[in-house]
Amino acid sequence: MAEVPAPERGSEAHWVRHHLDEFVRGEVESSPIPGGQRAADAALAGFTVRGYAARRNEVWPVDRRGASGLSPYIRHGLLTLPRVWDHVAGGPARDVTAFRDELLWQEYARHLYARLGDATQRSLRYSVEERGEPYDWPEGMACIDLANDELQRTGWLTNQTRMWLASQWSMRDGAGWRDGEDVFFRHLLDGSRAANRVGWQWTVGALTGKPYGFSRWQVEKRAPGLCHECDLRARCPIANWPPEDPPEARSYADPRVRRDPDLATTSGAAAMSSGSGAAPEMVWITAESLGDDDPALRSHPDLPVTFVWDVPLLQRLRLSSKRLVFLAQCLADLAERRELIVRIGVPVDELAGIPLAATFAPVPGWHRISSALQLVRVDPWPWLVPPHDGPVTSFTAWRRRARA
Ligand SMILES: Cc1cc2nc3c(=O)[nH]c(=O)nc-3n(C[C@H](O)[C@H](O)[C@H](O)COP(=O)(O)OP(=O)(O)OC[C@H]3O[C@@H](n4cnc5c(N)ncnc54)[C@H](O)[C@@H]3O)c2cc1C
Repeated sequence: MAEVPAPERGSEAHWVRHHLDEFVRGEVESSPIPGGQRAADAALAGFTVRGYAARRNEVWPVDRRGASGLSPYIRHGLLTLPRVWDHVAGGPARDVTAFRDELLWQEYARHLYARLGDATQRSLRYSVEERGEPYDWPEGMACIDLANDELQRTGWLTNQTRMWLASQWSMRDGAGWRDGEDVFFRHLLDGSRAANRVGWQWTVGALTGKPYGFSRWQVEKRAPGLCHECDLRARCPIANWPPEDPPEARSYADPRVRRDPDLATTSGAAAMSSGSGAAPEMVWITAESLGDDDPALRSHPDLPVTFVWDVPLLQRLRLSSKRLVFLAQCLADLAERRELIVRIGVPVDELAGIPLAATFAPVPGWHRISSALQLVRVDPWPWLVPPHDGPVTSFTAWRRRARA
């Protein structure tokens, strides 16, 4: 494979069908949540933090919700955490604190993943089933149907319904949490191994030893009236709390959860100092860095930009077409402001021999690919809080050392 025309605004679904057909199961569908810098800027401008603390966890009816819905844009670098942090300055103190706390959860997940990488595939501190028999959501429960339908239709879920699904999957039905994490990852527009794995590990108790129990109580509180519409309302399978069955501490826990032996690699300082300083010919962007504020894009405003659809990754992940269209929308939007060269193939082959500039990304895939490329200039990742080498055993332990 090789260079292909960049997607154009308004025809991204068609572009995905034409160029990425072999990676799509069934029809190509778009999410009602649009991709692209313009959409991200509009979503941020339309978000006001007032009322967030009281309404963040509301699920249904939809107009009761107070969550920002910014996660797909944050995930792909269209909105940096520092920018979103600043956006809510001056709002009601309680709401600002609650919202910024969630931004710090995102940062915590990124730090943990930057340090531990693929080791986050294992239950980090407590033994919880990771892989198991094929499993599907139970049918007929209005709460599960509501969440599952939204996931499939839009590629987005509230935090509350993510916890409902993950708890039902793992605690009630005993399915492997890694399988569930893969299902989420396939569909979520904000799907990241960093936050998705922390979310699953936390919900099933693999991080804290205390699984999150899901029952009718949360549905009545967060989605009042939904149970009246449920066929199973008179024989609700989750009328009671699930049995308390705390997982056992793992006999071997990765020592890096307590201390980082290589902070320079985690933070990106090592990658930045490895660039030769020669003149780059292009800026290489990835799914971590699709926004106009990407530091390498800003440092090199006149260079062409390149993005490679990573074929081995696409073959392995089998992402939903909504995710692919969302990414294509981001590229189409960017192509209106920058010269954009889009390729489909194996990144190290497609970019071989080109002196590149890029922004460091705190994910194992970036380390693997970039080490085989000719990166001559590396810009820093826009951390909200600089990584430290202390514990990431829990959000609270990490937070004690983190300075926002
Ligand atoms: C099982 C499970 C899986 C999850 N998978 C992902 C995922 O793949 N990608 C992802 O970005 N988030 C994930 N989360 C975290 C969280 O649910 C979403 O970030 C949040 O629901 C996104 O909606 P929002 O933008 O309206 O959030 P808001 O409540 O408006 O919060 C603002 C931002 O803070 C961050 N944030 C909020 N809550 C969390 C959290 N608990 N952990 C980490 N960051 C948070 C997000 O960047 C979010 O956009 C997961 C949570 C669980 C329980």
